[in-house]
Amino acid sequence: MEEKSKEAESSNFLEKIIEEDLAAGRVPDGKIVTRFPPEPNGYLHIGHIKAVCIDFGLAEKYGGTCHLRLDDTNPAKEDNEYIDSIKQDIKWLGFDWGSHEYYASDYYDQLYSIAVNLIKKGKAYVDSLTAEQVKEYRGTLTQPGKNSPDRDRSIDENLRLFQEMKDGKHPEGKYLLRAKLDMSSPNINMRDPALYRIKYATHPRTGNKWCIYPMYDFTHPISDAIEGITHSFCTLEFEDHRPAYDWATSIDGIEHAPHQYEFARLNITYFVMSKRKLLQLVKMNMVDGWDDPRMPTISGIRRRGYSPESMRDFVSRVGVAKVESLVEYSLMEFCVREDLNKRARRVMVVLDPIKLVIDNYPEGKTEMIEAENNPEDEAAGKRLVPFSRELYIEREDFSLDPPKGYHRLYIGNEIRLKNAYYVTATSCDKDSDGNVTVVHCTYDPESRGGETADGRKVRGTSHWVSAPDAISAEIRQYDKLFATEDPGAATGNYLDDLNPDSLKVVTCAKLEPSLASAKPGEYLQFMRSGYYMADSKDSTSEHLVFNRTVTLKDSWEKMKQKMGLK
Ligand code: ATP
Ligand code: MG
Repeated sequence: MEEKSKEAESSNFLEKIIEEDLAAGRVPDGKIVTRFPPEPNGYLHIGHIKAVCIDFGLAEKYGGTCHLRLDDTNPAKEDNEYIDSIKQDIKWLGFDWGSHEYYASDYYDQLYSIAVNLIKKGKAYVDSLTAEQVKEYRGTLTQPGKNSPDRDRSIDENLRLFQEMKDGKHPEGKYLLRAKLDMSSPNINMRDPALYRIKYATHPRTGNKWCIYPMYDFTHPISDAIEGITHSFCTLEFEDHRPAYDWATSIDGIEHAPHQYEFARLNITYFVMSKRKLLQLVKMNMVDGWDDPRMPTISGIRRRGYSPESMRDFVSRVGVAKVESLVEYSLMEFCVREDLNKRARRVMVVLDPIKLVIDNYPEGKTEMIEAENNPEDEAAGKRLVPFSRELYIEREDFSLDPPKGYHRLYIGNEIRLKNAYYVTATSCDKDSDGNVTVVHCTYDPESRGGETADGRKVRGTSHWVSAPDAISAEIRQYDKLFATEDPGAATGNYLDDLNPDSLKVVTCAKLEPSLASAKPGEYLQFMRSGYYMADSKDSTSEHLVFNRTVTLKDSWEKMKQKMGLK
């Protein structure tokens, strides 16, 4: 706890930059402006949570604003479905862009006229090299590039050709508009970067108005400048693009010069975190869509039952640095458990039921037993759970041949039924294969609520569900989508490492009746098993479906103990 508050006080390197800029009066009106600039070509993933928390979080912290900018410059891959999901996900995380919703496509006219001006000043040219030639002429990291023969095309011809590109007179790939920078620059991104390409595709917003589209290195910095962004944060792979960013924001006529700063991507073990790969999983039907509860997408983890608070906590624990790192999956699950432990309603669900008959309990009687909803939160109150002569308990809570140290039910042993009575097993019935079908027991009527008259103690406590009152549901026991820490590391194909056991469906479970009204969004703890949430897509009042968010415990706890953290 103490450690955490210290951490909250000390600033990360991006905060230091902002604080220095504010102190030096470099920020207009003292109000920073950031932006979160997703490309709407897929759903947001957990890596994006880090960027969202930085972009929106820092604006919030320093009293500035954060724009949502959809970076929609590749109509072939972009879709309104993605735009809607992105907005929903950011809101779910608890951030709001207010009226600041922008699209790179809002600036197409401005970008076009900036490009025309560059041509007029001799700073851009239309290149007719093929894609292959462009690559060849570009050179390598160790070898300079060489000038395209079209570099010296006349301004008039450039203007005419660019107009023709815009008018749809040429096929895709025939021409590029390129900036005239320096083909011998040590930075490949400065070797005459492409500004515009021809693309025939219907754009989600501009329809068929354009058949030329501006490139990222031209669009992004100028969009930032137009919006008055003061601090433009992005991941490290854009570091080499910063000179191009600075070039674009210094083009004549652009008044505001924003600055780009890079931070390390968030990577998590057992996950792939690239929209391209996630799209492939969806397209190949390896998962039930982008919001499959096993997907590392925000919509996936939401459906699975993760809370936004736990994910914000997770990224804040990971911190902001400039060094790439791989974060343990178990740290993320640890954060989810920490949060859900505080807020999840405890309920009794028997996943693998066996009947328990209390032979000395009156037949036909039902009593209502008071049960605490959350021992971590008194305000969560209590509920009444029906108790009767025939119950279900977990099959693993009874043993005919108890191993040493087994404190649960076996013939002659007494245990406590959670919130209810003490029971002692007396006998059991078996089927023709020798499997136990019913356990018989007697109860101590004086032990209701977990105390006995003589104060005797028992070691084991079982959860239970009253058989005549139990309801059924489909329980989806999710596990990791990939079986290895670094999917694809061994074979080069991450699909080889899909975990064949990432979903096990349980249909025989018996649930306490209060779960009939459970709704997606309600955090639940199935006692002694894990955290669960009703499935937002498939659960109905006729057919309840619950997703396992995370098990109650895992190796992270053990690891912490080993590391002396606990
Ligand atoms: P991907 O590479 O997974 O397809 P992307 O970088 O193409 O993602 P964008 O939509 O361009 O996705 O990203 C929007 C913002 O999110 C960018 O500022 C990008 O730097 C940031 N971002 C993307 N992935 C991560 C990540 N793993 N960790 C932190 N920030 C990320
Ligand atoms: Mg990208």
